[in-house]
Amino acid sequence: MTKNKSSDAEKTITPGADTLLTHGANTPSDFYGFVNPPVVHASTVLFPNVKSMGDGSQKYTYGRRGTPTSDALESAISKLEGAAGTKLATSGLNAIALALLSCLKAGDHVLIADTCYGPTREFADNLLPRYGISVSYFDPMVGAEIADQFLDTTKAVFLESPGSLTMELIDLDPVIAAAKAKGAKVLMDNTWATPLHYQPLKHGVDYSIHAATKYIVGHSDVMIGTVAANAKSYPDLEKTHGWLGLHVAPDDIYLALRGLRTLSVRLERHERNALAVAQWLQERPQVDDVLYPALPGSKSHNLWKSCFTGASGLFTFAFGPDVTNAQRTLFLDRLELFGLGFSWGGFESLAIPVNLKDIRTASNNHPQGRLMVRLHVGLEDPQDLIADLQNGFAAAFEG
Ligand SMILES: *Cc1c(COP(=O)(O)O)cnc(C)c1O
Repeated sequence: MTKNKSSDAEKTITPGADTLLTHGANTPSDFYGFVNPPVVHASTVLFPNVKSMGDGSQKYTYGRRGTPTSDALESAISKLEGAAGTKLATSGLNAIALALLSCLKAGDHVLIADTCYGPTREFADNLLPRYGISVSYFDPMVGAEIADQFLDTTKAVFLESPGSLTMELIDLDPVIAAAKAKGAKVLMDNTWATPLHYQPLKHGVDYSIHAATKYIVGHSDVMIGTVAANAKSYPDLEKTHGWLGLHVAPDDIYLALRGLRTLSVRLERHERNALAVAQWLQERPQVDDVLYPALPGSKSHNLWKSCFTGASGLFTFAFGPDVTNAQRTLFLDRLELFGLGFSWGGFESLAIPVNLKDIRTASNNHPQGRLMVRLHVGLEDPQDLIADLQNGFAAAFEG
């Protein structure tokens, strides 16, 4: 019997997600038995003769076109997502741009969830129209009635659930079904759920996108994105990726792979800590609403349970109408464990102020002007995080 079987065909165990995380990105027998794939720094790849330069017989041909390092991360993501193939991008935003450019052309229209990540909107509003692609936004809570918003030219629908900042959930299956019925491609920014808690392609989505910068990397030290596609869409993704000349540095890919190994255990702790913090926040008299779908009793809890198998540690809470901006600032400035900073998904807790004004154009699911705070709950002791928030409340409301 040969240990460390390298080809999937030789394997007898159908792996679960945790096994894919630990075994899904490496073939030690290809690399002298070393557990991890090599970090290949490369531009030139040499060929043994002229014939092999043109006949496609050599697996690797040029650094930009793929290495054993990029293959390892791409194949791990493909297995987790149930994808025909995955391509890497230089950031999450770059992955979103890559996916949209892969399936749209001049004359097309794209429908985008109104709660998309802000820079997704900037890309769509500023760059797509230059190439003759028109854009409109839909209320993420519209459900199957999204069908009414299709134009003859609508060729793609872009989802993100829960939505950035305000956490609205999309009723995914009916929206995906409506898009399919109209013949549109469906793209989803799946960053919040990670490939562990939702697999879009298994529900009919064509392109599943991750800001791997967040939970996959998990340590706030790399920016990288992934796009996984089904068999129908992968050829367009692969070609567009090549035409754009996208390439991710091997050290960054390696760190993403390293992060991926512990994604499951980290997420479990993020979810547990976030629930403890969310439950505590819910009891504060100054807090109106805790927008965390994993919180029992929260508005989107049942829809969350029907779509996702777990939660991450990112959520938002809204202060009551009497709380002033100055009080929110006192609260945020007092925090010592929650850092003030953008991004999320790392080991450390973070907070940002959220202002709804000017970020929604097609939906109005929250009282305008309500002051909010988004938290990323990290891997600290939850009682310490709660003590930190308690100090913030004291500074803001008892000062
Ligand atoms: C951060 C983020 C992105 C962009 O990722 P970058 O790696 O920062 O470019 C995309 N989508 C969501 C939901 C995000 O939170």
